[in-house]
Amino acid sequence: MNSAELKKFARDVVGVDNIGIANIERFDSAPPYMHPKAIMPECKSVIVFTRRILRGCLRGIEEGTHWPSYQVFAYAGLTKLIHQANYRIGRFIEDHGFDAVPAPPAATLKEAGPRGPVPEGGKYPRNINISVRIAAVLAGLGEMGWSKVFLSEDYGPRQRIGVILTDAELEADEIKIGHICDRCKLCARDCPGDAIDKNKTNSFDAANHHWECADLNLGKCKLTHFGLNRVTSPHFVKTFPGIFLPMEEQGNTWVEGWNFGHALFSALPTYQAFSAYPIAICGARGCIISCMNHLEKRKRIRNLFSTAFTDSKPPWRLPEKPLKYHKDHHGFTYDPDNTDNSGDGGIQSNWY
Ligand code: SF4
Ligand code: SF4
Repeated sequence: MNSAELKKFARDVVGVDNIGIANIERFDSAPPYMHPKAIMPECKSVIVFTRRILRGCLRGIEEGTHWPSYQVFAYAGLTKLIHQANYRIGRFIEDHGFDAVPAPPAATLKEAGPRGPVPEGGKYPRNINISVRIAAVLAGLGEMGWSKVFLSEDYGPRQRIGVILTDAELEADEIKIGHICDRCKLCARDCPGDAIDKNKTNSFDAANHHWECADLNLGKCKLTHFGLNRVTSPHFVKTFPGIFLPMEEQGNTWVEGWNFGHALFSALPTYQAFSAYPIAICGARGCIISCMNHLEKRKRIRNLFSTAFTDSKPPWRLPEKPLKYHKDHHGFTYDPDNTDNSGDGGIQSNWY
């Protein structure tokens, strides 16, 4: 099995949109808790492939009309297709006598913290995950934009990523960075979670390349992504009309945002109708939609369309502050909208 045969199978038989390969040496500067060799000591090549997010899946959230298309189809559903592709490519590799270790995206140790006690004897703590975005860059598939989202020459920010580690020694692809993102920073301007810093950067050094992205506030992003931001979630406002969580003032970590989203999930019936677990509600309106719009307009990506995705209107937003406060709450449940007087003879009908 060589690189060309593997790529042909992945593209023609499995149907991935793009595939690239990094040799393991490109990960030399990775911290141990994100290094492919921490998962597979014999790893020689890191295979990265992508499947595109259909542009139309972003339409329902953009118009404020239909959330399932993004969550059900382009998020959880597309992730399942990544896993299926990962399995089929892995079988192809193992049919040729090499190991194939799928390494799907997950929170890194730094974000999630070690799970359980740290082992003795210099072993790594549990929960090793490599960054699939950095792996995609090192496999020559594109670059990380200012938003920290991975951008490809074909689809800009519109794809999900799969990674397979293998002990097969495969020809690596050339790294190409610095030619898609033009630092317009519309991702930061339009991020409803106030999560993408316009000025502060994180820098990356790998395989003799240096690049910088915005300092992304993962805690704020997680709250908005999980639909706990009033400005982008009518579902949250419907269930919690009086709760005010101004995003710019939140100081939570990613884990706190994750736990908070899971804690509130059971109180949000719309979210439960979409999925069995907290879901993508924000629709990546800054880091995917605004970025895609910009890259299409500037023709900086290849997959272009006969119509613009949005007109020049700014994206819809709901009021950040509650429209009504339940000031008169004295221990009973107070419903200011209740007009049903049948239960109490018309007296104090807002209380029950
Ligand atoms: S919106 Fe502009 S600055 Fe942000 S990632 Fe896309 S191209 Fe880069
Ligand atoms: S997912 Fe939403 S909140 Fe997070 S960075 Fe993207 S636009 Fe901002």
